[in-house]
Amino acid sequence: MQTTMMNVPLSLNHLLDRAGMLFRNNEVVSRLPDKSLRRHSYGEFHRRTRALGSALQRLGLRKGDRVATLCWNHHAHLECYFGIPAAGGVMHTLNLRLAPDEIGWIANDAGDRFLIIDDVLLPLYEKFKHLHKFDKVIVFPFSGAPVAPAFTDYEALLAGADPDGFQYVPHDEDDPVSMCYTSGTTGKPKGVVYSHRSTVLHSLVAGLADFAAVRSTDVVLPVTPMFHANSWGMPYISVMMGAKLVFPGPHLHPDDLLDLMTAEPPTLSLGVPTIWLSLIQTYDASLKPGSPHAGRWKLPRGMRSFVGGAAVPESLIRAFDAHGIWIQQGWGMTETSPIATVSYQRAELRDMSADEKYRRAALAGSPVPLVDLRARGDDGTNQPWDGRSVGEIQVRGPFITGGYYAVGSPSDKFTPDGWLRTGDVASVDDLGFVKISDRTKDLIKSGGEWISSVDLENALMAHPAIAEAAVIAIPDEKWSERPLACVVLIAGEQATPDELNEWLLERSFAKWQLPERYEFIDAVPRTSTGKFWKLKLREQFPG
Ligand code: ADP
Repeated sequence: MQTTMMNVPLSLNHLLDRAGMLFRNNEVVSRLPDKSLRRHSYGEFHRRTRALGSALQRLGLRKGDRVATLCWNHHAHLECYFGIPAAGGVMHTLNLRLAPDEIGWIANDAGDRFLIIDDVLLPLYEKFKHLHKFDKVIVFPFSGAPVAPAFTDYEALLAGADPDGFQYVPHDEDDPVSMCYTSGTTGKPKGVVYSHRSTVLHSLVAGLADFAAVRSTDVVLPVTPMFHANSWGMPYISVMMGAKLVFPGPHLHPDDLLDLMTAEPPTLSLGVPTIWLSLIQTYDASLKPGSPHAGRWKLPRGMRSFVGGAAVPESLIRAFDAHGIWIQQGWGMTETSPIATVSYQRAELRDMSADEKYRRAALAGSPVPLVDLRARGDDGTNQPWDGRSVGEIQVRGPFITGGYYAVGSPSDKFTPDGWLRTGDVASVDDLGFVKISDRTKDLIKSGGEWISSVDLENALMAHPAIAEAAVIAIPDEKWSERPLACVVLIAGEQATPDELNEWLLERSFAKWQLPERYEFIDAVPRTSTGKFWKLKLREQFPG
């Protein structure tokens, strides 16, 4: 006898059907390789996604088979997000910015059976195809050119499928829907596998009003690649709520993003800080007298921007706010689906000063519902939430991974009592706001004291002459390690190490925390997900 609620499994198929029924006139817009815009209705999206599910079944997809995608952000990739799991498969997003050998290694490690790839990325496929044999390579004619007969044509496949007769493959809510490899910034890439349940719960939580606050009336621009932790779950959340989606395709240069924002003004956008940094610098330069781009762009006032993946400098938040755009910071990782903490306005802080508002916005924020968080000290006890004591952030919850594909739960990644070790070092204040000081690997230990590279970088990036700053540790005989600041100046600006030290001292850094040395460089190297790549800097400046 049932005496409590129905035990209906959480399912992505429900989100898909809901979108097809309720939001069929809402739009999905994709930027094509030739920069034109292609418009789709949610009704078409629903039909095409079911057609994809049906076609994959006809091709012999078995439940649990991995289907890799090597695609930019666009409507067909969105179809894969829902169509592959609808047919019982597991969508595995490959990171197109990795070296070909790494992509091949990852596809092989995951045992991917099929590959769905943009035609414009076939040259990349040619470079790794010797490392893994797919049963089928399905080519999406993104550029509009005909697909070579050696491959299966995605559009022909959909045209010949039967969306009306398609039956969802029965599943449990814990069955896998997608997988994503960690980037390997701090070790060998490992597969994180998401389930129906974890994806639906993450969508419900991350979309709440205090966090991404996604509404049906929103126009969402996901600049974060769909291979980077599922574009932070935003494709799922947008479909769940029926928001209009605008996909940038392969055009991620600041000029192109500003063109797109001017043509299809978003109300919500998301990306890593480095992209937002170059976006605002490009936009502000266009406002200067004599700029060749004068009048070309209009930043959408009122847009909210969800930014994370690396610390968000306060100066960046202020720069966008000056244009009426509010940046909201989140922290998380591939392993956490990824949104685990978000900085947001709290009732206690309603009357805070503008400075305090910006300071809080530059923190990683506090844990979202369903995520337990603790900062573990070196002695294995929890650090007090006093805003000063630092420890490793550890998390637990229904959308935090419990292990890795084929690897399980190694002890350097999970505690004996089942929490994920994030490798991020942080303090937590009395309101539960997390302040990330570093990744364990990036910490600088000088004379027995930790120096936060994130704090130094943020203060340096607030300097009017500085475009980018990344701080790394260099070995030091006396102090064991000292900070080295790698600085990129804004074109035409000047700053000397003495001036920069003075600037830091004025911002309450102690003398011993100042960089030992400055290197003025042309650009900070980027990882495959667009973050500052400190490993490369450490190789470049070993001491
Ligand atoms: P990777 O950065 O290695 O490509 P992920 O995308 O999974 O892989 O990144 C997760 C890591 O990114 C976190 O462990 C943390 O170090 C960093 N990170 C994410 N968000 C923030 C943030 N808001 N502030 C500081 N660091 C962040």
